[in-house]
Amino acid sequence: MFFLFRTMELRKDPITRSWVITGDDPGDAAPNLQASCRFCETAHQVIASSPDTPGIAWSARSVVHPKPLYRIEGEPGRRGDGLYDRMYSVGAHEVLVENRNHDRHLWNASDDEIGHFLRLGAERILDLKRDPRIKYVSLFKDYGKNAGQEFSHPTSQLTATMFVPRRVLYELRAGREYFVSKERCVFCDIIQQEERQAERVIEAKGDYLALGPFAPRVPYETWILPRNHEASFERTGLNKPGLRTNLAALLRGTLQRIRSVTEDFHLVLHTSPSTIHPSKNLGYWKTIDEDYHWHIEILPVIHSKARSYTFKEVYYSPVTSETAVRQLREAKIEG
Ligand SMILES: [Zn+2]
Ligand SMILES: [Zn+2]
Ligand SMILES: [Zn+2]
Repeated sequence: MFFLFRTMELRKDPITRSWVITGDDPGDAAPNLQASCRFCETAHQVIASSPDTPGIAWSARSVVHPKPLYRIEGEPGRRGDGLYDRMYSVGAHEVLVENRNHDRHLWNASDDEIGHFLRLGAERILDLKRDPRIKYVSLFKDYGKNAGQEFSHPTSQLTATMFVPRRVLYELRAGREYFVSKERCVFCDIIQQEERQAERVIEAKGDYLALGPFAPRVPYETWILPRNHEASFERTGLNKPGLRTNLAALLRGTLQRIRSVTEDFHLVLHTSPSTIHPSKNLGYWKTIDEDYHWHIEILPVIHSKARSYTFKEVYYSPVTSETAVRQLREAKIEG
């Protein structure tokens, strides 16, 4: 019985050392975003709500993904097959319902509502990281039909995995190398230089900064970072009051700016991996608190400017960050 549900497995590319998730999914038709909304109705399998106060209706909540790519039960069963590695896709896959109202998105909700969503995200990441099998928790949002949006209700998603996703792994390794040679955090150095040059800063609000990265992967790529060093979003999120106000307002304004260019975007939170079980042979695990710095990456999808990245694996952005930032700064925002 147990194995009947295991339609997906993880395989590791022995050359790039990236894990991929694969399986023969019978597939569905494209998601029907016009159908009646499962998240407006009484949702099943609610995991957590925010605010978690008796008598107060929920503002944001987390539910099990209706078609999870990762499942919490069972063992990963990591095993070799000659030179290859494979394991079952054990982990967690949740939908974070950002708002109880169908039309309140991260770009038009109140500070409080966005704050509740951010707090819920932080709580879920902390909770999942208590599971010793979990190495990393990703929080992400795909919005718009060119970005793979799944549900019409305002939602983000969260996956907890037994491996660190490739891009985060690159960042951890690079952060560690930079720290070894300079004894400083590369993200803190980027923030300092960007604030000094003021060419690619979109907006600063309290302890948080939105900027266009020096080498963007796509036009109008935007990062949001805390200005002071902090490796883990979930620790900041639960302890700093500025998250409710400044980060919420900066996120709302930034998404409004991006929406002046395109509706479709990917958003991902990069935070430190779980440090419950520091690896003995992976060097970067020892200094994460000093050399990693959490941030949110927003990658707008602009159909007319898209070039196939898939095979060349060289990013091409026909708009420089300086031009993009000038345009985003001037965009009209409300609230
Ligand atoms: Zn809905
Ligand atoms: Zn830093
Ligand atoms: Zn990142």
